[in-house]
Amino acid sequence: MISKRIRQLKPSPTLSLDFKVKQLQAAGASVVNLGLGEPDFSTPIHVQKAAIAAIKAGFTHYTATAGIFELRKAICKKLLQENRISYHPSEIAVGVGSKQLLYNAFQVLCEKGDEVIVPVPTWSTYIEQIKLSEAKPVFVYLKEPFALTVEDLKKQITPKTKAIILNSPSNPTGAIIDKEQLIKIARLAVKNNIFIISDEIYEKIIFNKGHCSIASLGEKISNLTITINGFSKSHAMTGWRVGYAAGPKKIIEAMISLQTQTTSNTSSISQKAALAALIGSDNPVKYMVSEFKKRRSYLIKEFLKIKEISFIPPQGAFYFFINIKKLLDKRFKNSEEWCQNLLEKEGVSVVPGEAFMYPGYFRISFAAPMKNLKEGIKRIKNFVQKCN
Ligand code: PLP
Repeated sequence: MISKRIRQLKPSPTLSLDFKVKQLQAAGASVVNLGLGEPDFSTPIHVQKAAIAAIKAGFTHYTATAGIFELRKAICKKLLQENRISYHPSEIAVGVGSKQLLYNAFQVLCEKGDEVIVPVPTWSTYIEQIKLSEAKPVFVYLKEPFALTVEDLKKQITPKTKAIILNSPSNPTGAIIDKEQLIKIARLAVKNNIFIISDEIYEKIIFNKGHCSIASLGEKISNLTITINGFSKSHAMTGWRVGYAAGPKKIIEAMISLQTQTTSNTSSISQKAALAALIGSDNPVKYMVSEFKKRRSYLIKEFLKIKEISFIPPQGAFYFFINIKKLLDKRFKNSEEWCQNLLEKEGVSVVPGEAFMYPGYFRISFAAPMKNLKEGIKRIKNFVQKCN
């Protein structure tokens, strides 16, 4: 009854886990949810106000599928000022979260048999969306500290390689790709005429290093890059569903064309909110990042006390990817079982490495209040002690 395409689809592991956590919580269990990558802050007040004003002004109808012109213009301004990439509004598509833009990009670029290189550990959505486009994901397995290099990519390039996924800062490792490597990757892509899909959704959440957009490294690479971004993580706007893609006009037009036959525009109200996020004060973003910094420092301090685990401090995003190989034995054969037991016995939800194609690890999100992190750490320590 159900198509093969969908039967083969693996649902989002993090969203499935969250569903389970909510069920446990509804049944009265005390669960500390450190699984989901969703900022716990409220959407900035000026953004909320813009949305309310939009509703009151009757801005509640269809818009251009690509998004309202003012928003696309503001996105261009942002990309020029912050990322040093020059775009025209016709080279911007706004959609229902960056997830939709990624989906549209794969659908538009890929043919059956094409290969798309995905550095692993990876966010599972890329893999499923690549498969939905009938292309084949080709994996580059990174070793700690999970820094992607051009050498890793070179080994996987074939005549069928259509695109490379870059996600810097990365979900789940928090690793950032250095500018030096990006320059080399750009050269490789240009030489082989390979597209880059650069998911920069965590660009604002960085702790030491700066962010570099690969499309800023020259016209040739810009012509091969689709930069993906959105408001979910930077402005605590996960529920508003606004993301955008910037890239060559032909590709963007095709993505919009696809969108005209799927969702049409994202919510008109959310678009006004996103516009306010871009043109309004950046202070709420700065505040959130400063809180993430404090939480990151706290977790580094606490995780260092647990000698059975190891980790690379994240350079960006709001996750730690923790190595628990020393804790796996006959009782817990893999990280999935370990995480399952942590949830059932101690009531802490974290995501097993299997969800990122990288067993032996778990991802813990610090997009959660300090109080929850403290409780979560206490319970994780308890659990690790019991494992010994
Ligand atoms: N890209 C990455 C790497 C993510 O981790 C996520 C969300 O978890 C997204 C994109 C999706 O964000 P959006 O809410 O804009 O669809």
